[in-house]
Amino acid sequence: MITCDILIIGAGPAGLFATYYAGMRGLSTVVVDSLSHLGGQVAALYPEKFIYDVAGLPAVRGRDLISGLIDQAQSARPRIILGEECTTLDDQEDGSIIATTSAGTSIHCGAIVITGGIGRFTPRPLPAVDAYSGGGIHRVVGPAEEYAGHDVVVVGGGDSAVDWANMLAETANSVTLVHRRARFTAHESSVELVRNSRCRIITDAEVLEVAGSATVQHVVIKDAKQADSEVVPASIVIPALGHIASLGPVTGWGLTITGRQIEVGTDMSTGRPRVYAAGDITDYPGKVRLMVVGFGEAATAINNITVVLRPNENVFPGHSSELPRLVSAGSEG
Ligand SMILES: Cc1cc2nc3c(=O)[nH]c(=O)nc-3n(C[C@H](O)[C@H](O)[C@H](O)COP(=O)(O)OP(=O)(O)OC[C@H]3O[C@@H](n4cnc5c(N)ncnc54)[C@H](O)[C@@H]3O)c2cc1C
Repeated sequence: MITCDILIIGAGPAGLFATYYAGMRGLSTVVVDSLSHLGGQVAALYPEKFIYDVAGLPAVRGRDLISGLIDQAQSARPRIILGEECTTLDDQEDGSIIATTSAGTSIHCGAIVITGGIGRFTPRPLPAVDAYSGGGIHRVVGPAEEYAGHDVVVVGGGDSAVDWANMLAETANSVTLVHRRARFTAHESSVELVRNSRCRIITDAEVLEVAGSATVQHVVIKDAKQADSEVVPASIVIPALGHIASLGPVTGWGLTITGRQIEVGTDMSTGRPRVYAAGDITDYPGKVRLMVVGFGEAATAINNITVVLRPNENVFPGHSSELPRLVSAGSEG
């Protein structure tokens, strides 16, 4: 059994900031996410896009924002459990809670912050990729340098597919973008960029087979209108068909859920004792679903949990500028 003061369910921006904040208040954390990586929607859906509405950062690439949030969260020394979904919550007689994950991990905690965003999201199926068990399938794209010398096939027609094709067009040995329709749904300027890049574009076509073992050797691409198929050399396949989101087990936790959101009070409490929520998953009158709002909610949730777990402390944490240094400073004058 793993024990901690606060269990954070969901490692997107709100969950990562809640983790840091818990550390700032001297509380230990376990972070669980059903994805195999940290960063929630930002890391999974748009790591290369620039974000222009995070306070103090005039323009920040998604990947860099997540990297900063992870660095900050690490100062809390959280235990991080990835690839497991939190499935059940059981109240204990002393007020604490035991949570269990899809892999059977039990976490005994004093309180919980649900930062589950739009829920667990799973990639849309692509039968040819799902039938392939070898290496070389990248569902999340790493830094462009890792693709140097590779023949990459990107599958999809939305923003992620087109952004990733654009990002790798100059670095990879070759990039082939395969889309089953004639028209892309990605932002017009990104589509124009990819059309003018080194990338080969194959539309009205689908991936019939992925062949290889330790890594991909080639893919077979079939024309949707004719019986023709073509073997395209590839060492990496990036399926970018989007995700299916679902709240999943959260709906069975006895919370008030409207649509896909948990109703919370001004202190981010959910109504279930010691269970709080923050970020995209919350709802209240006037809610604005943006990261900056989620960061504030995460701080509010943790500060209010602090006084539940340690009644002698204050909700207001004091000014961080008066605390000992927690993370390495970005700039010092
Ligand atoms: C293309 C795009 C562009 C965007 N641009 C901006 C922008 O410019 N500015 C802005 O502020 N916002 C933007 N957003 C929205 C922003 O990404 C979200 O507001 C933000 O990601 C929400 O953060 P979160 O931590 O609440 O949830 P998420 O990022 O959704 O993270 C939630 C995490 O919880 C996990 N999870 C869910 N349920 C469970 C469970 N039961 N067990 C374990 N793990 C679970 C999920 O796997 C996920 O990783 C954009 C969104 C998209 C799709």
